[in-house]
Amino acid sequence: GGLLMRARDLKVHFPIKRGVLKRTVGHVRAVDGVSLDIRSGETLSIVGESGCGKTTLGQALVRVLEPTAGSIEYRKAGEGPADIAHLGETELRRYRSDIRMIFQDPFASLNPRRRVVDIIGESLRNFGVKDERDVEARVATLLRKVGLRPEYMSRYPYAFSGGERQRIGIARALAVHPRLVVADECVSALDVSIQAQTLNLMQDLQEEFALTYVFISHDLSVVEYISDRVAVMYAGRIVELSDTEPLFAKPRHPYTAALLASVPRPDPRSARMRKHMRLKGEVADPANRPSGCAFHPRCPFATDLCRAEDPQLRSVGSSDVACHFADSLDLKGVNADAA
Ligand code: SF4
Repeated sequence: GGLLMRARDLKVHFPIKRGVLKRTVGHVRAVDGVSLDIRSGETLSIVGESGCGKTTLGQALVRVLEPTAGSIEYRKAGEGPADIAHLGETELRRYRSDIRMIFQDPFASLNPRRRVVDIIGESLRNFGVKDERDVEARVATLLRKVGLRPEYMSRYPYAFSGGERQRIGIARALAVHPRLVVADECVSALDVSIQAQTLNLMQDLQEEFALTYVFISHDLSVVEYISDRVAVMYAGRIVELSDTEPLFAKPRHPYTAALLASVPRPDPRSARMRKHMRLKGEVADPANRPSGCAFHPRCPFATDLCRAEDPQLRSVGSSDVACHFADSLDLKGVNADAA
């Protein structure tokens, strides 16, 4: 597909304030220079450990957050690209129905005191559907699209399972015909079997409504299943960007290789899955970014060059990689313990 969104040198810095005078003593550089093209119709995943900046990046792309610096060009249907990075709320209204978000916890994101018809209908009313019968008819259609019975519209969120609540969250996001949907850990809270059903539903809806997905997740098996492309984030930057298959077959960045090695696999010596295994070492502190390559304190290949110079994202093979030695490293031996 063509280009839908183009982010350039995006930064989201939060000031750290101290003392009675609330003086700014530093900045948390949650997103620290991300450039990214999002192609129409694709599923692009953003992965990394918690604290890498992926959620903040997603919030900047949907303009829940205003970035500190950088541009976000968005192409509305039939229009040329417009930079939405620093628009005010009034100007943003034209884009709000185009770009929607689905959240992690379907229960927390649904108001327990409102019926499903009101939860989904709110978006419709906000975007100009005034007649109550129209609202109900559209909510019924949306519920069918996500595999729920239209009669459910008069129920409250507590009456639904986690998977059903996430379907309601999806229906709410789709109510106003978005083109770009940013899903932040949207299946993480669900059982594995329900995850698969939800992902399949999302893929069906993507085809039917020509949706583009930005899929934020720490779960690499989910990411491998759903993505066309994957961006790996570390310390607020993209360190590797690649089509999904080559990324999983041949990671080029040591951090990607270590992440892949930390994916839980059945442990032959015990019946247990080794779930949520963490990489060794601490995630880089976004308030105190390490010199040079931010991954160097955890990288088994770090040299003086890595400590001194910040590697830029450049094309290596079929990927874009930010590592000084991306073309020469042998990453086969990298495991989660080595990093
Ligand atoms: Fe490791 Fe150096 Fe590459 Fe950073 S630049 S990932 S420290 S080898």
